[in-house]
Amino acid sequence: MIRKASIQSFTEKINTSDSLSSILQKWFVINKRNLPWRHTNDAYKIWLSEIILQQTRVNQGLPYYLKFEENFPTIYDFAQAPEEKILRLWQGLGYYSRGRNMLKCAQQVVNEFDGQFPQDYKQIIKLKGIGDYTASAILSFAYNLPYAVVDGNVYRLLSRYYGIDTPINSTEGQKLFKAIAEEVLDTQNPGNHNQAIMEFGALHCTPKQPKCETCPLAESCEALRSNRQASLPVKSKAKPKKKRYFNYLLAVSDSGFTYVQQRTGKGIWQNLYELPLIEQEKPLDVDELYRCLEDIQTISIESQNAINKSFSVKHVLSHQEIFADFWIVAHEAIDFSRNSNIFEVRFEDLEQEYAVAVLTSKFLRHLEQK
Ligand code: SF4
Repeated sequence: MIRKASIQSFTEKINTSDSLSSILQKWFVINKRNLPWRHTNDAYKIWLSEIILQQTRVNQGLPYYLKFEENFPTIYDFAQAPEEKILRLWQGLGYYSRGRNMLKCAQQVVNEFDGQFPQDYKQIIKLKGIGDYTASAILSFAYNLPYAVVDGNVYRLLSRYYGIDTPINSTEGQKLFKAIAEEVLDTQNPGNHNQAIMEFGALHCTPKQPKCETCPLAESCEALRSNRQASLPVKSKAKPKKKRYFNYLLAVSDSGFTYVQQRTGKGIWQNLYELPLIEQEKPLDVDELYRCLEDIQTISIESQNAINKSFSVKHVLSHQEIFADFWIVAHEAIDFSRNSNIFEVRFEDLEQEYAVAVLTSKFLRHLEQK
């Protein structure tokens, strides 16, 4: 529990004639980007944009937002959509569970709240895929309710401005920064305040090379005074990531068919499609892969000469690193018919017809460029 006195020990250190919020809101009027979700107080559109922007930067997220908005103009359209279609539109954003949770959330809003996002924090936070950040964003942007948002931009600005070195990824740091964000919130204009502080962090107090020379907060910024812009905010070291080794097999027939499988069970890329996958504890050379395929009851392979490595890529996720090798296998030399999870599709239709996992997609891009 963060005591009020300890928050004030940070916020009172800095005396400006104007409050932090009013400086930021004045800056925002002049500098804000013209973005479609800034012209609406429709909670559905705000929710859509916020979930997408948690995955990517504004420039990359904008086309996704426009695609979703066009395909699903209202939350009712979204709630009725097949999961497959949502995942296809989501493709490239990663964290497919977020796309899946969006569908569940839209269905909850339609079925339990008559299509309106609730205005009560305790209710909105219970919706699928909505955490404190998204709840506060929707409540403040759509309904102008006094909830402070804390995203990466807000952490950075507050830690620099107040010179706070508590790690932002610690429980203590999360509570402290949330409490400070609430303390500095303009409760009369929470929506505008929240947009201003996030935009300022995104455009002005940037991770690298913040624009301190032209900063309206320069006079009172603790990081600038103590020359600590580069070392704030502080993040404590994450645990080492788990390493995984994937071997994907591409076998295309003369008539243009190839094999795919659907990922089942929990874990990454649930329900998405990918090339047949052999996962091992270490990277394999061609002999080891051949022996490994020979040992699998449901696959048979004629000869190791039928296998050629095509492409290798490392893919980093939040808790794991995947080292993927893609192997081209002569179609006539491999038999998947005893594996009920693997089926044939027309190779050129693969991405149009199926929501494919990101690594398969990367490989297909690689083949196109060859
Ligand atoms: S002076 Fe520099 S570090 Fe401080 S808030 Fe402004 S841009 Fe950020």
